[in-house]
Amino acid sequence: MAAIEVKNLTKKYGPLEALKGITFSVEEGEVFGLIGPNGAGKTTTLRVLSTLLEVTSGTVTIYGYDLVKQADQVRKIISYLPEDAGTYKNMKGIEYLRFIAAFFHDQNKDQILERGVRIANLGERLEDRIDTYSKGMQRRLLVARALMIQPKLAILDELTSGLDVINAQTIRRTVKETAKQGTTVLLSSHNMLEVELMCDRIALINDGLIVATGSPRDLMAQYHASNIEDVFVEVVK
Ligand code: ATP
Repeated sequence: MAAIEVKNLTKKYGPLEALKGITFSVEEGEVFGLIGPNGAGKTTTLRVLSTLLEVTSGTVTIYGYDLVKQADQVRKIISYLPEDAGTYKNMKGIEYLRFIAAFFHDQNKDQILERGVRIANLGERLEDRIDTYSKGMQRRLLVARALMIQPKLAILDELTSGLDVINAQTIRRTVKETAKQGTTVLLSSHNMLEVELMCDRIALINDGLIVATGSPRDLMAQYHASNIEDVFVEVVK
């Protein structure tokens, strides 16, 4: 069974058709990246799959659950990290993780918290208030929040946007490790190098349509390109 199966998905905002019929599937344990320019439809796709936006037409199943008819089941197995996610600034980092862990009644909260602390990797700074954190530290806390519950599917929008090289690399490594432990990852990025480094497969999205899908290596071979940026330029020209 595929972790994600998307068929002919369209999404309209009023008259604007942001997704014009996209089809892709993601296997369990895969890191799958949506990549494309501003306004291509990446965030829209992720928000639809997270059950936050209504489907206009088409079908989506997540681990066999129909996104529309079984939205409650879908919500139980996914974790969504928005691009501009915020935290509760007057909480300490550790309090925030504890607060989130408390929502998961049916799991071992201590284990969740322990994983959160490890993923955030903020050391003693976890005892400080979040409003004293840098952007990178906040993002690490949010990534920890999203992954510590070991969702079956993590949906991560612009995973590392605005982060320095070291923070970005740490977060990428964490996400890859989480995938190895069985979490399927769907992420979006503008950063072509990032998807090349992280993703088993990618879909290039442009103006609401998927214009190419494959592993970074296969796509580079197919388009005789030495990197994904060149593949993209080839595909959309
Ligand atoms: P970016 O890389 O800039 O975040 P994106 O690929 O995530 O872009 P989306 O945010 O999905 O793109 O936007 C796709 C299209 O839908 C754009 O034309 C955008 O203007 C439009 N759009 C997005 N959200 C809304 C909304 N709430 N209402 C109306 N139009 C929207």
